[in-house]
Amino acid sequence: MSAIRFSMGQNDIPRQWYNLLADFPEPLPPPLHPGTKQPVGLSDMTAIFPENIVMQEMSPERYIDIPDEVREIYSLWRPTPLLRAVRLERALNTPAHIYYKYEGASPAGSHKPNSAVAQAYYNREAGTKRIVTETGAGQWGSSLALATKLFGIECVVYMVRVSYEQKPYRKMAMHTWGAEVHPSPSRHTAFGSKILDGDPNSPGSLGIAISEALEDVLKSPNTKYALGSVLNHVCMHQSVIGQESIKQMELAGEEPDIVIGCAGGGSNFAGIAFPWIQRKLAGKKDYRLIAVEPASCPSLTKGELRYDFGDTAGMTPLLMMHTLGHDFIPPSIHAGGLRYHGMAPMVSHAYKLGIIEALAQPQTKVFEAAVTFARTEGLIPAPETSHAISAVIDEAVRAREENKKKVILFNLSGHGLLDLSSYEQYLTEGLKDE
Ligand SMILES: *Cc1c(COP(=O)(O)O)cnc(C)c1O
Repeated sequence: MSAIRFSMGQNDIPRQWYNLLADFPEPLPPPLHPGTKQPVGLSDMTAIFPENIVMQEMSPERYIDIPDEVREIYSLWRPTPLLRAVRLERALNTPAHIYYKYEGASPAGSHKPNSAVAQAYYNREAGTKRIVTETGAGQWGSSLALATKLFGIECVVYMVRVSYEQKPYRKMAMHTWGAEVHPSPSRHTAFGSKILDGDPNSPGSLGIAISEALEDVLKSPNTKYALGSVLNHVCMHQSVIGQESIKQMELAGEEPDIVIGCAGGGSNFAGIAFPWIQRKLAGKKDYRLIAVEPASCPSLTKGELRYDFGDTAGMTPLLMMHTLGHDFIPPSIHAGGLRYHGMAPMVSHAYKLGIIEALAQPQTKVFEAAVTFARTEGLIPAPETSHAISAVIDEAVRAREENKKKVILFNLSGHGLLDLSSYEQYLTEGLKDE
């Protein structure tokens, strides 16, 4: 029998986060103040984030200690298992070995609590009483609702209206964890009202919801903002995924040739890939690292690399990133967590430097891959994750055609048990590609 599950114990939870900024061969261009076009200073950022998080965002340190309280909460689901997908390999009749890191094991069902818990901890340390955020399909909002509850902080979430209406279960999870949830655009903010005056049926977008959350933060006392992806500190928090996967691949006695993750804002891809990039840059092995995005929101493969705002209203600092433009409203695909106009500056920079590759997948092919995975491995993956699976299957089929053994590792960023309505639609009516 082949070994298929590579589990570790509580002591194997990483003690430090890894920061790729320390190892880039060329420095990452800094965020700029939209008015002065000068690099933002600490004080520009502390209006919306607590100082300890801003320090982390700007830190050049290679390793940052994970506080004990955060590790203790991580131990509710970490280390997450690494599994070998032998049934998928057999179904594809491929000589490739396919491994996946299962981040759906967290209480919220995705990788996002890895950062939500850290951000709630630092806010509690800084005396924050209320955190406001936005969410697309609800994964980030529910992760933050959970994390803030564990640290006794109030949580307010602006949720993209189309998801609020069509995917109610994560909203219910947020309510269960005690958060307040508003469909965005909303009448709670001037920016939301302006959008609704122009289009009362606006489906909303992540960029609009970010603008509403920021407006709320700036006008409320003891209130800070939290972002679930894109920024350096979020990518860093997610590095626990890749660090654990390095130890687990050792337990499996294999080295990956290819590491794959889906990419919306870039954080789960960063999480699995950056610790492997550290080894690649150190000359250990020339791993191929592939970020997979939706064909309908292709910021890396079709967007431009330039300074752009993180939100629609243009309130955030300018970030050097791959972007489709901050006013781009992506089509309503089922992988709501991948509908963001930009890509993490660190992921964009790694792409520019040729350290990683990127490709885009259409949603019908993605669901076909998801169903193949569910029917072989059992787990029903999130539609976001299924973009990675679609690319994994392509690589495994190529390995068969070339008759080469390849070792593929991917991040199974979340389960799809709250996305079953998308599956139902795919199975009964089929889906359209843009
Ligand atoms: C949010 C989410 C993503 C996309 O966000 P990234 O920051 O790119 O990781 C991917 N998968 C799942 C399950 C998510 O919840």
